[in-house]
This record gives sequence, structure tokens and C-alpha cells, in this order.
Amino acid sequence: MRSYTVVFFLLAVHFFLCAQEPQCGMNWLETTESQKGVPVEQIKTSFHGKIDSALESTNSIPELRSEIIVPVVVHIVWHTTEENLSNEQVIEQIAILNQDFNGNNKDLRDVPEEFEPFIARKGIRFCLVTETPEGMSTSGITRHSTDLEVVGIKEELYEIAPAWDSENFLNIWVANTGDFLTGLGTYPGLVPPERQGVIVHPRYFGYNDSFRYNFGRVAVHEIGHYFGLDHIWGTDQNCESDDGVEDTPLQQHSYQSCPAHPQATCGSNDMFMNFMDYVDDRCMLMFTQGQMERMLATIELYRPELLNNDISCLSGEENVCEFNASILPNPVSQQLTVVLSGNVVPDNYLITDCMGKVISKGMVNSQEFSTDVSELPAGVYFLHLADKVNREIYRLIKQ
Ligand code: ZN
Ligand code: CA
Repeated sequence: MRSYTVVFFLLAVHFFLCAQEPQCGMNWLETTESQKGVPVEQIKTSFHGKIDSALESTNSIPELRSEIIVPVVVHIVWHTTEENLSNEQVIEQIAILNQDFNGNNKDLRDVPEEFEPFIARKGIRFCLVTETPEGMSTSGITRHSTDLEVVGIKEELYEIAPAWDSENFLNIWVANTGDFLTGLGTYPGLVPPERQGVIVHPRYFGYNDSFRYNFGRVAVHEIGHYFGLDHIWGTDQNCESDDGVEDTPLQQHSYQSCPAHPQATCGSNDMFMNFMDYVDDRCMLMFTQGQMERMLATIELYRPELLNNDISCLSGEENVCEFNASILPNPVSQQLTVVLSGNVVPDNYLITDCMGKVISKGMVNSQEFSTDVSELPAGVYFLHLADKVNREIYRLIKQ
């Protein structure tokens, strides 16, 4: 009897802890919308039907487009100064998106061999806009302070930080979504245009020091929803419900934390290391080609204006190998030397602190340059290398 009690107690603790873990807000969003009378099921069924038929008729598969670049604007809506993230963190998040949506993430090598053939290695690129809709120069980041603590799940969010025309831009709001939601991404058609986009809790945006969601993959997952992907197990936790994607195995339920492969349900090994599962950031690694085709079809059918624009913008990552800088030594105490081995030489460099404050700057005109950093207080700094179109950021440590 006693051991039953212990087992029951452990189970109860387990469920309690799991219930406390913040998660993607897809279910929350659907419930909230259906309470307002929005026919969520109907919208989803019609959406999936259209994407399915587009994918069946080969002509409309958009993967032949040479380059898909989605212009992004990031709205930082902050209550505490901690939530007012630096530009560097935003740029890092864009770089993460570019890696993860193109199979360029270094941890891709951890994908189990049996799933390697399905990895999407080319897909969607993202860049921060450099021009507002009115033609003014911008960093692609807007900042708004608010008295509201949990602004990310309130209608006021869209008054405080209005969306830029969501047909032309992917709007990402970085806003506190409370203790239970990591973020949300809106399906096409589910909410009005002025609310279309993605919301990510500032605690989990870019590289961060949270334990579970520290690699910026909440944004990856939510953009997956924004481009029409379901969770990999479908909508219900059983073997009937499916995500509509052929190359993701049928999976009964979501996974948490970081399970070891293999885990099997519904008669096959589960692809829990997919970006559309609930595992920790360090363990989600891939989209499949089937998922990528669905996302591209969603863009083509539902969000085509994202591509049909000549908006100028900067990517955090796409040219990251071009300057290819080595920082010597790192950590550094006196003289910092930067050796460039890429195929382009940057025009200038900047060193900033964690808050984005410029500490020193200079021109670059050779493959190697040095600067004296002996006066800098110890800590983490960022070296920015840039020319007119490229920008790279390296982390450096001053001892
Ligand atoms: Zn989700
Ligand atoms: Ca599937």
C-alpha cells in the first residue's frame, strides 16, 4: 500500500512539475479564439485542404524559387529593463533562424542516422528590415515600454506596438507571455491581419540563460506554426491524429526535456528531435523536407507578399562565413588581434559591451588588425565586423 502511495505521489509531482513548465501557446490561442466565436476547426481544415491540394499539383510547389527571404521586424515590448533586449540579441536570433531553417545548425550532426535523409537543408531565410514602410532608415527593431507585466497575451500588445503590414513583413513581438507560455505563432487566417505574427517571451528570445529554451528555438517553433506547421504529433495525443506531413513518423504524444533516441510510439521510432516537438532547445534539431514544402506552400498561398517586395534588409547570418575572423587570443587581456581568412574584408569594426554600448571602433583595411583592450573592465564584449551589406558579430571575453 505504501509503495502505491509513493508511486502516486511521484506521479502527482511529475504532473505538477510538467504542468508548470511553460509551453508553446498554440492550444491557448485556439481556445481563446474559439471562445470569441472564431471557427478554429473550420479554418484549420480549410487551410490544410488548400495546402494539401497545392502540394499535390506539382506546379505550385514553390521550392524552385531560387531564394526565399522573409523581411522581419522585431517589436520589443518591455516592462522590466531586463526585457528590453539588446540589438545584438535580436541579430543573434535572426542568425539562429537562418541556421535552423536551412539545415546549417551545427548540432544537426546529432540527428539519428535513420532520420538524416529527411532533413530539410535549404529553406527560408530571414533578415531584419533596414527601411520602414515610409522609407525611413531603421534597425528593424522597434522598442516600446509598458506598464503591463504580461503584455504578450493581451490585446493591448497590438496598440502598444502595432504590427507593420503583416502581408509584407513578418512581425515578431518580444513580449512577456507569462509563466505558462513560451510564445505563440499564428496560423494563416486564424487571427486578423493586425495580429498576424509571432510572439516570443523575452526570457527565451535569442541565446539566453534559461535552462530549457536557451538556443532561440522558441522563435523557430513559433515561426513553424506561422508558416502552417502543426505539432509533430498532430492535434490530439493519440495515433490517429497526424500533422499532415508525410515524412514525419506518426507520433502519439509530445516529448519533454531531452529524451534518448530511440523512443517508439504508433509502431515506429519518434522524431522528437524535430523543431515542432516540445523538447528542450538543445535537443531540437531539424525540420523535414515535408515540413519545409508545407511552409513554402503556405508562403506561396497565404503569405505571398512576404516575397514580392523589394524591401531592403540585413541578415544576421547568411554571410557569416564571409569575413571568417579569428580572434586572438580569446579570452584577451592586452592586445586583441583579429585575423581574417574569408573572401571579403570588412570596412570597419566595432567593439560593444553587453548593453550594445560602443567601446571602440575603427576602420579595417587588411587581413589582420590589432587593438589595445588593456583598459577594458573584465567581462563579455562583442566584436562587430561590417561592410555595406554584411555584418558579423563575435563574442569575446576580456580577462
Ligand atoms: Zn507549438
Ligand atoms: Ca506525419
